[in-house]
Amino acid sequence: MLIIEKKNKLRNKLLQAKTEGKTIGFVPTMGALHQGHLSLIERAKMDCDIVVCSIYINPTQFNNADDFENYPQTLNADINKLDLAHCNFVFTPTFDELYESESDLLDIDLGGLEKNMEGEYRPGHFLGMVTVVKKFFDIVEPNKGFFGEKDFQQLAIINYMVSYFQLPIEIVGCPTVREDDGLALSSRNALLNKEQREAAPIIYIALGGIKELLLKHSVQECKDLIIDQINQNKELGVEYIEIVNTKTLQAITEYNTQKACRACVAVYAGNVRLIDNIAI
Ligand code: AMP
Repeated sequence: MLIIEKKNKLRNKLLQAKTEGKTIGFVPTMGALHQGHLSLIERAKMDCDIVVCSIYINPTQFNNADDFENYPQTLNADINKLDLAHCNFVFTPTFDELYESESDLLDIDLGGLEKNMEGEYRPGHFLGMVTVVKKFFDIVEPNKGFFGEKDFQQLAIINYMVSYFQLPIEIVGCPTVREDDGLALSSRNALLNKEQREAAPIIYIALGGIKELLLKHSVQECKDLIIDQINQNKELGVEYIEIVNTKTLQAITEYNTQKACRACVAVYAGNVRLIDNIAI
């Protein structure tokens, strides 16, 4: 496994592989790797000849300076995990290697997909995220990019960006990996204290009950019931819950069993912000 900081060096190495007819799979991450990330690497290994993983905490997608400062960093452990997972290249660029300036952001209309949920509560997050992923795609030029359903709105926006720029990249959405108690794996889980960690599985348990609730109550009543269920635990506070059409990400006001939808939630445990979602 090679660890590369410079984009031109990575480009040259990948060019060599491409001329040998090898396919490239790409997994962008912000590090502090866990089994959720490694499931993407495993899927990329199955689908492609060469796997590139980037580790880069992208400042332009953080709307909260404390969140950026406190984001966990475990580079050496990450590199060991990627080596064990038979990743081929780890790309660890600096800010200057990727960006011209602080305001070097894509000029793109995200089709309204960025307006609600994470977009509403984290202004600018998706523009920063989509900017860095487009930069990575331009450097790596992968055949496939692998993203987790854990960040469902992100996955939808990446798909939109790929068709917007007509990039020849297949986006593969991968299922959310969870702890045994249901908590979605997240790098931020490492920041939870004991009480918060014990409380956190309620998020998934509450989401799991939503389908049955929707058969008996209005969408608004269901959202209120879920909020109450989560907020009853003093460690947790719901920021939003939304039930959205899987394709458009627009909030639904009436449940229709014929139309695929997704329940998405953001919850604070102290200062730690957790997100999760399930298919309905
Ligand atoms: P991050 O490092 O949080 O930016 O995540 C990098 C990639 O890993 C994104 O595509 C995430 O959606 C994905 N990911 C994060 N957590 C999980 C999880 N628990 N299961 C599956 N994929 C995940």
